[in-house]
Amino acid sequence: MTIETCDFKGKKVIVRVDFNVPLDDNGNITDDTRIRGALPTLKKVLADGGSLIIMSHMGKPKGKVNPKFSLGQIVDAVSEKLGVKVQFAPDCAKAQDAAAALKPGEVLLLENLRFYPEEEGKPVGIDKEDPKYDEAKKEMKARQKDFAKTLASYADIYINDAFGTAHRKHASTAVIADNFDADHKMLGYLMEKEVQAVDNVLSNIKHPFTAIMGGSKVSTKIGIIENLLGKVDNLILCGGMTYTFAKAQGGHIGKSICEDDKLDVALDVIKKAKENGVNLVLGTDCIAGDDFKNDCNTQICPANAIPEGWEGLDAGPETRKAFAKVIEDAKTILWNGPAGVFEMDNFAGGSKAIAEAIAKATANGAFSLIGGGDSVACINKFGMADKVSYISTGGGALLEAIEGKVLPGIAAIKGE
Ligand code: AMP
Repeated sequence: MTIETCDFKGKKVIVRVDFNVPLDDNGNITDDTRIRGALPTLKKVLADGGSLIIMSHMGKPKGKVNPKFSLGQIVDAVSEKLGVKVQFAPDCAKAQDAAAALKPGEVLLLENLRFYPEEEGKPVGIDKEDPKYDEAKKEMKARQKDFAKTLASYADIYINDAFGTAHRKHASTAVIADNFDADHKMLGYLMEKEVQAVDNVLSNIKHPFTAIMGGSKVSTKIGIIENLLGKVDNLILCGGMTYTFAKAQGGHIGKSICEDDKLDVALDVIKKAKENGVNLVLGTDCIAGDDFKNDCNTQICPANAIPEGWEGLDAGPETRKAFAKVIEDAKTILWNGPAGVFEMDNFAGGSKAIAEAIAKATANGAFSLIGGGDSVACINKFGMADKVSYISTGGGALLEAIEGKVLPGIAAIKGE
């Protein structure tokens, strides 16, 4: 069954969305992309004459109630965007009565699923080394199943539209699906679009295929970097990673961010790129600062000769040109992670140069896929969201999908 063909008339539909939106100190939403992303699915159910039970996580409350992460803060925003007054269930596991009372066209938003440890299904308060860990894990898995069953009991149909958490086997993203047969569970429109975008990159790669990986660390991206080495023609590595690579090759990096225990990993990436015939493009110069502040003193210097007391905070002009040239020639582009500390305006130039080159390549017919919170924030900051082919709502999920891994949230519905 698909969302397009399903008639939701008179049905209660529980939808897992990703409403993990950023909030400011006063609880105001600073970026509503994720809410807007789920609207087509939610509106289809309502337009058909169904009623909605919406569930999501927010932040990392680690299995405990924490008002800072309450979805109660976004009820008004969701009401406004849906055009329907949304009701709120302050305890997601005790919403039977509120769900049962829903009439067609009505909407109930459940409180943060992660206020319950059962959502993630990880045992709490016990170390992995503890001899009783396996037993605790088994017990928690059983509790997770029960929790998922409770959520499932609210509705006739389950829709997963939360791509951002599709790589997690959580109660609401995967385990719940066991309670519905194939005709009563499906992916939402956003999920379908995300799956299609990944498919576009993987099954229909037009060359040159250029991946740009940035961000702060090598360690969190090494899996995807190694995987991409078997797929891409050009691999641009930028952001904080630059300095781990520079140091690994004997460079001086001042006080730049660096993972000293990953120097061998960096050298291995360089070696594998050569073996695979991949053009590995690393920053040659950088904008260094004497403090981690927007208004610190700056100088342009080689990425492998940064003076003591200075740190590389953005790609330099020579690097930007080199990156842009490779990107502009590409026919398939994947971008994850900024080229500098883009949150500070004075160090956003490298990421902007990348965004502009991607926009140019896209205008020339390339397919460009941007994913991961920070690169999406970059594209939005530069007002270029409409100049790229597809912006994914997934960070980890997108990268795992590109690695070719089957995502539990999708497998639970498609049975793969
Ligand atoms: P990640 O979460 O690993 O994708 O990294 C994103 C973060 O990397 C952003 O918040 C950037 O500010 C940060 N970042 C990028 N370049 C640098 C750099 N040269 N030094 C320190 N942080 C950086």
